[in-house]
Amino acid sequence: MRKNIVAGNWKMNLDYEQGLSLFSEIVNMVKDEVRGDQQVIICSPFIHLASLSKLSAGVTNVAVGAQNINEAASGAYTGEISASQVKSTGSEYVILGHSERRAYYGETDSLLAKKVDAALANGLKPIFCIGETKDERESGSYYDVIKTQLSAGLFHLDAEAFAAIVLAYEPVWAIGTGLTASPEQAQEVHAFIRKTLAEQYGQAVADQTSILYGGSANPANAESLFSQPDIDGGLIGGASLKSRDFLQIINVFNG
Ligand code: PEP
Repeated sequence: MRKNIVAGNWKMNLDYEQGLSLFSEIVNMVKDEVRGDQQVIICSPFIHLASLSKLSAGVTNVAVGAQNINEAASGAYTGEISASQVKSTGSEYVILGHSERRAYYGETDSLLAKKVDAALANGLKPIFCIGETKDERESGSYYDVIKTQLSAGLFHLDAEAFAAIVLAYEPVWAIGTGLTASPEQAQEVHAFIRKTLAEQYGQAVADQTSILYGGSANPANAESLFSQPDIDGGLIGGASLKSRDFLQIINVFNG
Protein backbone atom coordinates (compact mmCIF):
# COMPACT_ATOMS: atom_id res chain seq x y z
CA MET A 1 0.00 0.00 0.00
CA ARG A 2 1.25 3.45 -0.81
CA LYS A 3 1.46 5.95 2.04
CA ASN A 4 -0.86 8.85 2.64
CA ILE A 5 1.35 11.88 3.19
CA VAL A 6 0.69 15.40 4.36
CA ALA A 7 3.81 17.52 3.86
CA GLY A 8 4.19 21.13 4.95
CA ASN A 9 6.35 23.51 2.95
CA TRP A 10 7.26 26.38 5.25
CA LYS A 11 9.13 28.18 2.42
CA MET A 12 11.19 31.18 3.75
CA ASN A 13 9.02 31.74 6.82
CA LEU A 14 9.49 31.50 10.61
CA ASP A 15 12.56 32.42 12.61
CA TYR A 16 14.41 29.73 14.55
CA GLU A 17 12.29 29.84 17.72
CA GLN A 18 9.00 30.18 15.83
CA GLY A 19 9.86 27.10 13.76
CA LEU A 20 10.66 25.00 16.83
CA SER A 21 7.51 26.04 18.56
CA LEU A 22 5.22 25.32 15.57
CA PHE A 23 6.91 21.96 15.03
CA SER A 24 6.55 20.98 18.70
CA GLU A 25 2.85 21.75 18.53
CA ILE A 26 2.48 19.59 15.42
CA VAL A 27 4.44 16.67 16.87
CA ASN A 28 2.46 16.74 20.10
CA MET A 29 -0.82 16.75 18.27
CA VAL A 30 -0.05 14.04 15.73
CA LYS A 31 2.21 11.59 17.52
CA ASP A 32 -0.60 9.50 18.95
CA GLU A 33 -3.13 10.04 16.20
CA VAL A 34 -1.46 9.38 12.87
CA ARG A 35 -1.77 5.79 11.65
CA GLY A 36 1.14 3.66 10.47
CA ASP A 37 0.34 4.06 6.77
CA GLN A 38 0.41 7.84 7.10
CA GLN A 39 3.34 10.22 7.14
CA VAL A 40 3.58 13.85 8.15
CA ILE A 41 6.61 15.69 6.77
CA ILE A 42 7.72 19.21 7.61
CA CYS A 43 9.99 20.84 5.03
CA SER A 44 11.56 23.73 6.88
CA PRO A 45 14.28 26.26 6.13
CA PHE A 46 17.77 24.82 6.62
CA ILE A 47 18.23 26.59 9.96
CA HIS A 48 15.60 24.40 11.61
CA LEU A 49 16.46 20.98 10.23
CA ALA A 50 18.79 19.59 12.90
CA SER A 51 16.65 20.79 15.79
CA LEU A 52 13.41 19.53 14.27
CA SER A 53 14.95 16.12 13.62
CA LYS A 54 15.92 15.90 17.31
CA LEU A 55 12.43 16.95 18.40
CA SER A 56 10.82 14.22 16.29
CA ALA A 57 13.32 11.47 17.13
CA GLY A 58 11.33 8.32 17.86
CA VAL A 59 8.10 9.72 16.38
CA THR A 60 8.06 7.54 13.30
CA ASN A 61 5.14 9.18 11.52
CA VAL A 62 6.65 12.67 11.61
CA ALA A 63 9.67 13.35 9.39
CA VAL A 64 11.71 16.39 8.42
CA GLY A 65 12.78 17.57 4.99
CA ALA A 66 14.68 20.39 3.29
CA GLN A 67 13.38 22.53 0.44
CA ASN A 68 16.44 22.37 -1.81
CA ILE A 69 19.95 20.97 -2.14
CA ASN A 70 22.87 21.69 -4.42
CA GLU A 71 23.64 19.00 -7.00
CA ALA A 72 27.37 18.88 -6.15
CA ALA A 73 28.79 16.72 -3.37
CA SER A 74 30.88 19.48 -1.75
CA GLY A 75 33.23 22.32 -2.65
CA ALA A 76 33.44 26.01 -3.41
CA TYR A 77 29.75 26.84 -3.78
CA THR A 78 29.29 29.71 -1.35
CA GLY A 79 25.89 29.74 0.27
CA GLU A 80 24.84 26.33 -1.01
CA ILE A 81 24.00 23.18 0.96
CA SER A 82 24.68 19.62 -0.16
CA ALA A 83 22.56 16.50 0.14
CA SER A 84 25.00 14.92 2.60
CA GLN A 85 24.89 18.04 4.79
CA VAL A 86 21.08 17.90 4.85
CA LYS A 87 21.19 14.18 5.59
CA SER A 88 23.60 14.79 8.48
CA THR A 89 20.90 16.88 10.23
CA GLY A 90 18.67 13.80 10.46
CA SER A 91 16.39 14.91 7.63
CA GLU A 92 14.79 12.26 5.44
CA TYR A 93 13.25 14.23 2.58
CA VAL A 94 13.97 17.12 0.23
CA ILE A 95 11.58 19.04 -1.99
CA LEU A 96 12.96 19.26 -5.54
CA GLY A 97 11.53 20.99 -8.58
CA HIS A 98 9.22 23.34 -6.72
CA SER A 99 7.79 25.81 -9.23
CA GLU A 100 9.20 28.75 -7.24
CA ARG A 101 12.71 27.35 -7.70
CA ARG A 102 12.06 26.55 -11.35
CA ALA A 103 10.76 30.11 -11.95
CA TYR A 104 12.96 32.30 -9.68
CA TYR A 105 16.23 30.34 -9.73
CA GLY A 106 16.12 28.93 -13.26
CA GLU A 107 16.11 25.29 -12.19
CA THR A 108 15.80 23.21 -15.35
CA ASP A 109 14.73 19.60 -15.76
CA SER A 110 18.33 18.53 -16.41
CA LEU A 111 19.61 20.30 -13.27
CA LEU A 112 16.80 18.69 -11.30
CA ALA A 113 17.79 15.25 -12.57
CA LYS A 114 21.25 15.87 -11.04
CA LYS A 115 19.72 17.04 -7.76
CA VAL A 116 17.56 13.91 -7.67
CA ASP A 117 20.69 11.78 -8.08
CA ALA A 118 22.50 13.71 -5.34
CA ALA A 119 19.56 13.26 -2.98
CA LEU A 120 19.23 9.53 -3.62
CA ALA A 121 22.99 8.94 -3.38
CA ASN A 122 22.81 10.37 0.13
CA GLY A 123 19.70 8.58 1.29
CA LEU A 124 17.33 11.55 1.00
CA LYS A 125 13.88 10.94 -0.49
CA PRO A 126 12.89 13.58 -3.05
CA ILE A 127 9.42 15.12 -3.00
CA PHE A 128 9.50 15.93 -6.70
CA CYS A 129 7.15 18.71 -7.84
CA ILE A 130 5.61 18.93 -11.29
CA GLY A 131 2.82 21.09 -12.66
CA GLU A 132 1.74 23.42 -15.40
CA THR A 133 1.43 27.21 -15.57
CA LYS A 134 -1.85 28.99 -16.24
CA ASP A 135 -0.97 29.44 -19.93
CA GLU A 136 -0.09 25.78 -20.28
CA ARG A 137 -3.40 24.76 -18.71
CA GLU A 138 -5.37 27.13 -20.90
CA SER A 139 -3.61 26.03 -24.07
CA GLY A 140 -4.28 22.38 -23.21
CA SER A 141 -0.57 21.46 -23.28
CA TYR A 142 -0.46 20.47 -19.61
CA TYR A 143 -0.23 16.74 -20.17
CA ASP A 144 2.84 17.23 -22.37
CA VAL A 145 4.41 19.56 -19.80
CA ILE A 146 3.91 17.07 -17.00
CA LYS A 147 5.16 14.14 -19.04
CA THR A 148 8.31 16.07 -19.96
CA GLN A 149 8.95 17.09 -16.35
CA LEU A 150 8.60 13.45 -15.27
CA SER A 151 10.75 11.97 -17.99
CA ALA A 152 13.51 14.60 -17.96
CA GLY A 153 13.73 14.83 -14.18
CA LEU A 154 13.13 11.25 -13.08
CA PHE A 155 12.94 8.61 -15.78
CA HIS A 156 16.70 8.06 -15.87
CA LEU A 157 16.15 6.21 -12.56
CA ASP A 158 15.61 2.48 -12.50
CA ALA A 159 12.53 1.13 -10.73
CA GLU A 160 14.42 0.39 -7.53
CA ALA A 161 15.73 3.95 -7.23
CA PHE A 162 12.37 5.40 -8.25
CA ALA A 163 10.74 3.70 -5.24
CA ALA A 164 12.14 6.47 -3.00
CA ILE A 165 10.35 9.23 -4.94
CA VAL A 166 7.25 11.04 -3.70
CA LEU A 167 5.52 13.09 -6.40
CA ALA A 168 3.64 16.34 -5.90
CA TYR A 169 1.33 17.63 -8.61
CA GLU A 170 1.27 21.37 -8.07
CA PRO A 171 -0.47 23.40 -10.77
CA VAL A 172 1.53 26.65 -10.73
CA TRP A 173 -1.63 28.72 -11.12
CA ALA A 174 -2.93 27.32 -7.83
CA ILE A 175 0.15 27.88 -5.64
CA GLY A 176 -0.33 30.65 -3.10
CA THR A 177 -3.10 32.15 -5.22
CA GLY A 178 -6.17 30.92 -3.35
CA LEU A 179 -7.21 29.17 -6.60
CA THR A 180 -7.42 25.41 -6.18
CA ALA A 181 -7.72 22.76 -8.84
CA SER A 182 -11.14 21.18 -8.48
CA PRO A 183 -11.06 17.60 -7.16
CA GLU A 184 -11.98 16.43 -10.68
CA GLN A 185 -9.23 18.48 -12.35
CA ALA A 186 -6.67 17.24 -9.83
CA GLN A 187 -7.81 13.60 -10.07
CA GLU A 188 -7.62 13.73 -13.87
CA VAL A 189 -3.96 14.78 -13.75
CA HIS A 190 -3.06 12.40 -10.91
CA ALA A 191 -4.54 9.49 -12.89
CA PHE A 192 -2.51 10.60 -15.91
CA ILE A 193 0.67 10.73 -13.81
CA ARG A 194 0.02 7.22 -12.45
CA LYS A 195 -0.63 5.92 -15.97
CA THR A 196 2.63 7.49 -17.14
CA LEU A 197 4.48 5.83 -14.24
CA ALA A 198 2.88 2.49 -15.11
CA GLU A 199 4.08 2.80 -18.72
CA GLN A 200 7.62 3.53 -17.53
CA TYR A 201 7.98 1.26 -14.51
CA GLY A 202 5.00 -1.11 -14.52
CA GLN A 203 1.71 -1.01 -12.64
CA ALA A 204 3.13 -2.26 -9.32
CA VAL A 205 5.55 0.66 -9.04
CA ALA A 206 2.86 3.13 -10.14
CA ASP A 207 0.50 1.77 -7.48
CA GLN A 208 3.16 2.13 -4.77
CA THR A 209 3.98 5.77 -5.56
CA SER A 210 2.44 8.47 -3.38
CA ILE A 211 1.23 11.39 -5.50
CA LEU A 212 0.40 14.52 -3.48
CA TYR A 213 -1.67 17.49 -4.57
CA GLY A 214 -0.39 21.02 -3.86
CA GLY A 215 -1.92 24.41 -4.54
CA SER A 216 -3.96 26.38 -2.00
CA ALA A 217 -5.08 23.26 -0.17
CA ASN A 218 -6.76 24.14 3.12
CA PRO A 219 -9.04 22.61 5.77
CA ALA A 220 -12.13 23.42 3.67
CA ASN A 221 -11.04 21.67 0.46
CA ALA A 222 -8.65 18.95 1.68
CA GLU A 223 -11.28 16.27 2.17
CA SER A 224 -12.74 16.54 -1.32
CA LEU A 225 -9.25 16.50 -2.84
CA PHE A 226 -7.83 13.66 -0.72
CA SER A 227 -10.87 11.45 -1.28
CA GLN A 228 -10.02 11.17 -4.98
CA PRO A 229 -8.64 7.71 -5.81
CA ASP A 230 -5.25 8.87 -7.12
CA ILE A 231 -4.60 11.67 -4.62
CA ASP A 232 -2.54 10.38 -1.72
CA GLY A 233 -2.28 13.55 0.33
CA GLY A 234 -1.01 17.08 -0.01
CA LEU A 235 1.97 19.39 -0.15
CA ILE A 236 0.75 22.33 1.86
CA GLY A 237 2.24 25.83 1.77
CA GLY A 238 0.34 28.64 3.49
CA ALA A 239 -1.91 26.40 5.59
CA SER A 240 1.09 24.53 7.05
CA LEU A 241 2.11 27.66 8.95
CA LYS A 242 -0.98 27.52 11.17
CA SER A 243 -0.96 24.48 13.44
CA ARG A 244 -4.75 24.26 13.65
CA ASP A 245 -5.25 24.38 9.86
CA PHE A 246 -2.44 21.91 9.25
CA LEU A 247 -3.85 19.53 11.85
CA GLN A 248 -7.29 19.69 10.30
CA ILE A 249 -5.77 18.78 6.94
CA ILE A 250 -3.86 15.85 8.49
CA ASN A 251 -7.01 14.68 10.22
CA VAL A 252 -8.79 14.21 6.89
CA PHE A 253 -7.08 10.80 6.84
CA ASN A 254 -8.29 9.97 10.33
CA GLY A 255 -11.88 10.11 9.16
C1 PEP B 1 3.50 25.03 -2.19
O1 PEP B 1 4.22 26.01 -2.17
O2 PEP B 1 4.00 23.92 -2.37
C2 PEP B 1 2.06 25.22 -1.99
C3 PEP B 1 1.26 24.23 -2.31
O3 PEP B 1 1.67 26.44 -1.50
P1 PEP B 1 0.17 26.88 -1.09
O4 PEP B 1 -0.44 25.73 -0.33
O5 PEP B 1 0.35 28.09 -0.25
O6 PEP B 1 -0.55 27.15 -2.38
